[in-house]
Amino acid sequence: LRLHVVKLKRLETVEQMGAAICHEIRNPLTAAIGFVQLLQDESISRESRVQYISILRNELKSAEQVIQNYLTFSKPEIELVEPLIVHEELQQIIQSLQVLANRNSVHIITNYSYTGAIEGDSQKFHQCFVNIMKNAIEAMPNGGVLTVETMSTSSNMTILVQDTGAGMTAEQLNRLGEPYYSTKGEKGTGLGIMVVYSIVHAMNGRIHVESELGVGTRFEFTFPSSPTLFEQNEIHKNMSVLV
Ligand code: ADP
Ligand code: MG
Repeated sequence: LRLHVVKLKRLETVEQMGAAICHEIRNPLTAAIGFVQLLQDESISRESRVQYISILRNELKSAEQVIQNYLTFSKPEIELVEPLIVHEELQQIIQSLQVLANRNSVHIITNYSYTGAIEGDSQKFHQCFVNIMKNAIEAMPNGGVLTVETMSTSSNMTILVQDTGAGMTAEQLNRLGEPYYSTKGEKGTGLGIMVVYSIVHAMNGRIHVESELGVGTRFEFTFPSSPTLFEQNEIHKNMSVLV
């Protein structure tokens, strides 16, 4: 009986994984198809052609990376650990979401006055914050403000992601992270936050969420600072003092 339960659990995980892969690669593949269609037009300039091919390559790479990422999903421990300069990673993520933000008239404000580095896998970090920021933008269909802030102490790094969107009730807040929990019907899969929790857990991080219906939502992430980079930063500081 015990074996049976374990097997069922495994199957469930495999199913969730499959659905998650579909969810995460749908966007880059849809974009890739769009650019292939644009490239079929023989009258476009050489310049545009080069640009479209470059975007197409990036979109395909992004889809490929997601699959790579999920191959290790059954082992959620982060295997590749490198120091991540948090504000640089966040900036890349924001750039990749700019089109989506513009579509919803969402203004993005960043404040990286206190930043630093944490340990993790860049691809997984991206996936985590893409999911969080996408949800924030989707919660503001009629416009709003997405604020991304970083703060750090010598031992911790805090990342704040705040929106002025729909917000959640206490009951909805409680269900966050439950597989397949979504209020978006056809448009949602309810796997984004589950993946977020799994990645943050593997990075030894913590999440604190506050939300108010009709006012907005605030996600606060805390990760241990990267010791190596912190020392390097100190060295940099000292060096600039010397210069
Ligand atoms: P999906 O986006 O596919 O619905 P997620 O796991 O990403 O799945 O999110 C689950 C649910 O949590 C969403 O359907 C939404 O109801 C709620 N949610 C998540 N983030 C926010 C947010 N920033 N503002 C309001 N609701 C949110
Ligand atoms: Mg989502």
